[in-house]
Amino acid sequence: MTVLFRRVALIGVGLIGGSLARGLKKQGLCASITGYGRSENELKKAVELGVIDQFASSVRDAVKNADLVVVAVPMSAFESVFSDMQGVVADDTIITDVGSAKESVIAAAKSVFGELPTGLVPGHPIAGTEKSGVEASFDSLFENRRVILTPTQVSSKNAVDLVGDMWRAVGAEVVLMAPDHHDHVLAATSHLPHVLAFSLVETLGEMHESSEIFRYAAGGFRDFTRIASSDPTMWRDICVSNKDAILTVLKKYERHLKALELAIEAQDSEAINQIFVRAKKARDENIVD
Ligand code: NAP
Repeated sequence: MTVLFRRVALIGVGLIGGSLARGLKKQGLCASITGYGRSENELKKAVELGVIDQFASSVRDAVKNADLVVVAVPMSAFESVFSDMQGVVADDTIITDVGSAKESVIAAAKSVFGELPTGLVPGHPIAGTEKSGVEASFDSLFENRRVILTPTQVSSKNAVDLVGDMWRAVGAEVVLMAPDHHDHVLAATSHLPHVLAFSLVETLGEMHESSEIFRYAAGGFRDFTRIASSDPTMWRDICVSNKDAILTVLKKYERHLKALELAIEAQDSEAINQIFVRAKKARDENIVD
């Protein structure tokens, strides 16, 4: 593989940032990676694991002279990270991110930089696990997974091409999407299921006989609730960042749930059956396990 970047700055060396760094190194796509995070212990661990080459003690130091900056921090930290790099990165430095909502990343960049940098190409890998931190990272996380890039109106073609090449080189399929469309699609396919899983487990956890309920939890319950083990802070941030799109799909879901509740209350077998048949058909036709 050809070296795409000389100096990579990775802000946030956790599951996603760490996995991308491992992939970049494995494919020989960059000469050196400098990491930044708040915990020095975690950064030392990342160096020991070979995920990054060295770490910096500030965002400013990490991004100095970088030709690629990857922001892989929780959504609530984007604005302060952008502020810290302001004045150090050039307008055409390639900056990308992995945040799970895109309009809020672009809004944070606008509020900090004023004019959006031409090198900024927001992105979102549709890959992950319910684990966090650099120790959970692995180099094949993005293989055969999709990465959605949501270029802004001023993102340069060169920046979009390079960021796309980087993701393809670590095994991903790259898709371009408008930021607001991304946020609506992801609200429905990822954010709502997480909200439902957290809420279901919280509901059952509060019930008096919860220990019994969890002891007898069968496959369906485990499958449905696995994602409720995801990092609460990360998902809190996603809910705040993508509020409008999540509320739109959540309200739609509430209307469907109410219809099912009424059908069950009325013991309307036909109505219940129709709902289940439609759902099964939609899943069977569209999702391959
Ligand atoms: P993670 O494993 O917890 O990693 C986040 C990293 O950011 C940690 O290394 C953390 O280190 C660092 N960090 C936190 N606050 C920071 C700050 N203010 N300044 C600098 N560094 C900071 O989380 P992750 O799963 O990789 O998620 C990172 C991003 O990827 C999030 O925006 C998330 O929405 C997105 N994403 C996640 C998934 C997934 O399934 N996990 C999938 C796609 C996208 P310190 O605490 O030491 O600072």
